Amino acid sequence: MATDAGRGDALFLAVGAAAGAFVRAIDALELEVLPALLIERVLTEVLAEGVANPGHAAEAGGLRAIYTPSALWAPAPRLVWWSFVGPGEKVANTTWSRAEQAVLAAAGVELESAPEAAVRISGGYADAVLRVGEQALFVRPALSGAAETVAHPLEHQLHLMIEQAGKLVRWRAERLLAEPAAQLAQRVLPRAAVDIMDAPAPRARWRVPAAGLARLANRRESATTLGRLLNCQLSWFAQDVLRLRAGRFAEIPEANQLFGNLAHEIVNGLLPPGPPPAVADIRSRAVELFEKLLPRMAAPLQQPEFAGELAAARERVPAALEALVQILHARGLEVVGSELDREGEVGGLALQGRLDLLVRQGAMPAVIDLKWTSSARRYREEIAEGRAVQLAVYGAIAEPGTAATGAYYLLRQRRLFAPRGSLLAEEDIEAVRGLDETLHEVIDDVALWRSQLDGGNLLATGMGEAADHRPSELMFEAPKEPCRFCDLTGLCRVGVEAL
Ligand code: SF4
Repeated sequence: MATDAGRGDALFLAVGAAAGAFVRAIDALELEVLPALLIERVLTEVLAEGVANPGHAAEAGGLRAIYTPSALWAPAPRLVWWSFVGPGEKVANTTWSRAEQAVLAAAGVELESAPEAAVRISGGYADAVLRVGEQALFVRPALSGAAETVAHPLEHQLHLMIEQAGKLVRWRAERLLAEPAAQLAQRVLPRAAVDIMDAPAPRARWRVPAAGLARLANRRESATTLGRLLNCQLSWFAQDVLRLRAGRFAEIPEANQLFGNLAHEIVNGLLPPGPPPAVADIRSRAVELFEKLLPRMAAPLQQPEFAGELAAARERVPAALEALVQILHARGLEVVGSELDREGEVGGLALQGRLDLLVRQGAMPAVIDLKWTSSARRYREEIAEGRAVQLAVYGAIAEPGTAATGAYYLLRQRRLFAPRGSLLAEEDIEAVRGLDETLHEVIDDVALWRSQLDGGNLLATGMGEAADHRPSELMFEAPKEPCRFCDLTGLCRVGVEAL
């Protein structure tokens, strides 16, 4: 409020009021130390409905919206007074002390008294009505939240004038539901029956129109799109071929994503192509870069609710980088590059991807994919079960003509996972198939799914009877919970009982 310095910036004051509510809540807690989570909860309460911008009124069509009746300064043919409910505009309390008022009066400054303000406000109501040339519609809801509304002060004034007219001017909105052709404000509002239709039934098999198939021309798959295809053909087709996406507000990525982005950028900055940097000062350089990048790339992580995670990441990210550089030295690996865009074609399948880190031991290339995750098991199992599609794809496109091996480097845990026998292998992980074999099985499965699609059929894996329609030759097993992370549950209606 002090910063506003009497300028009366309505939005600034609204934010100030929310901040005031927050301070009052914190005062009421009377705690010496406030846990971050508690502060977060108080903030959530205070901002539950957000802070509306008082200077911004939503408008649509040919309407001009104003907030206060006295803002109507010119004649208007029609007036719709929405939310015509009491108690009306309040007279603001004076912020001047008596002594200040005396000083101002002595200097010839006359402040508006409360009775004068009341006259001005009610005059504004009457003025607004008097400027209307044709129609005025006052809309009063029966309830405001759970409470009954009270009459607007102007309604009391109008009452004497319109009492005689009775039903001619008072109109209950329920009539819209009861009358086949209600007449309101010189318009007829007809009521008509609407056919009730059954919602489409969920089904495992979908037919694809020819126009949809045309979208397959010149397709290039990435590890992400292949992962989606192996999980559910319908989800892949809708999201990756037709590019259907769930609508989202612009949102800040979640904490893990931000930590991951930060760690990737630090690796990118400190591992230039060539021999790995010296181990001696890599940690301090990583700490320095972390602090420099944090406010630029991941400012939300500086919020109090992430204090614990941020403190841990400040320790873990530089330590992870140090451990990675030690591995590079120990294995005689040289950095080829980081964040590299690569494309390639294997077995007729066009592929693309962005490699986090490409290294080389002599003539042998290897891809290291960085992960900021709490689930080390998931990546270990992927490799052991021969499902590491990402490593298989990256290995195939890393260097033309050479198949590169690959590994996941888990930054939080400082663990490197690669199949046994790989030049990056650190822990003993026996894979049921190598990355090369995984890639060829991916290619074969893609071809099978493609032949289904050429026949115009798509399969929604999450449907109960989908198993009956899966090609029996597929190498990748049906996923256990295909719909868990899918955005299309509403579209394909999985989980809706068939009628
Ligand atoms: S919700 Fe399940 S069945 Fe439907 S498209 Fe997604 S993964 Fe496939």
